[in-house]
Amino acid sequence: MTTILNADLHCHSVVSDGTLTPEALANRASTNGVELWALTDHDELGGQHRALAAAKAHGMKYLTGTEVSVTFIGQTVHIVGLGFDADDPQLLQGLRQTRGGRGQRAMEMSDGLAKVGIKDAYEGALKFVGNPELISRTHFARFLVESGVCKETNEVFRKYLTEGKPGFVPHRWATLKDAVSWITQAGGMAVIAHPARYKFTPNQEFALFTEFKGHGGQGVEVVTGSHTAAEYLTYAELAREFGLVASRGSDFHSPDESHTELGTLPYLPGNLTPVWDVLASRIQ
Ligand code: AMP
Ligand code: MN
Ligand code: MN
Ligand code: MN
Repeated sequence: MTTILNADLHCHSVVSDGTLTPEALANRASTNGVELWALTDHDELGGQHRALAAAKAHGMKYLTGTEVSVTFIGQTVHIVGLGFDADDPQLLQGLRQTRGGRGQRAMEMSDGLAKVGIKDAYEGALKFVGNPELISRTHFARFLVESGVCKETNEVFRKYLTEGKPGFVPHRWATLKDAVSWITQAGGMAVIAHPARYKFTPNQEFALFTEFKGHGGQGVEVVTGSHTAAEYLTYAELAREFGLVASRGSDFHSPDESHTELGTLPYLPGNLTPVWDVLASRIQ
């Protein structure tokens, strides 16, 4: 195909930590001119069949998607999976296992917040949860905004939910190797999500890209709502260096919180191979 395609291959619904249904997201993507869409809920495929049906109803092309939480040298890294079989038993089992610790973690987060005087945060966060297996920091952030502790979710993360802050609980997610293998054995492609967001040294970043490739990973997000224009260029260069194909996605979560709207980012730089070229046979 071409790099000039309005593809949005990263966003979240109520099935993880977004606020819109898969149907409402499809409608919004279509209104914004998205031609190829993927819903990529965290650690969960529960919205995939609905998203595909809604995409078809709007005449959009669709790739299956998910965003797997991974722990790599002590940090959380996100790996997007695209174009896999959404009924693959091993992928479903791997994601179920990855979701497993979220309930316990949420109760510990709540205990941490109670120590600084924020009561009943677990119950408060639950009110925002669309999928009981997927309680996330985002739901706590929405509760703290609703209860007036902070003005916006970004501020909640900064003050309460990131490393060293009272509501932060260290967590061990999937391994990089497992996440990449689950996706690829299900017929899909693994893609490093928003690489500029991680706080790695250059050597650690090199290790991430090298090991990711070694495990069979093929793609990297270059144009994402998490990157600046300068970072598009940095990661376009890194994609070429590592022989990775490039992806584009807004990481849209909510009309009230996301500053990047579905389908509105710049196109991929022209000298890259887009993920949708390699995944042509997986597009529905
Ligand atoms: P969790 O998987 O529970 O650790 O939650 C991670 C989610 O929190 C990410 O997918 C984002 O949606 C959200 N998030 C992380 N950092 C921030 C931030 N600084 N501001 C707003 N949302 C954030
Ligand atoms: Mn999220
Ligand atoms: Mn992410
Ligand atoms: Mn995301």
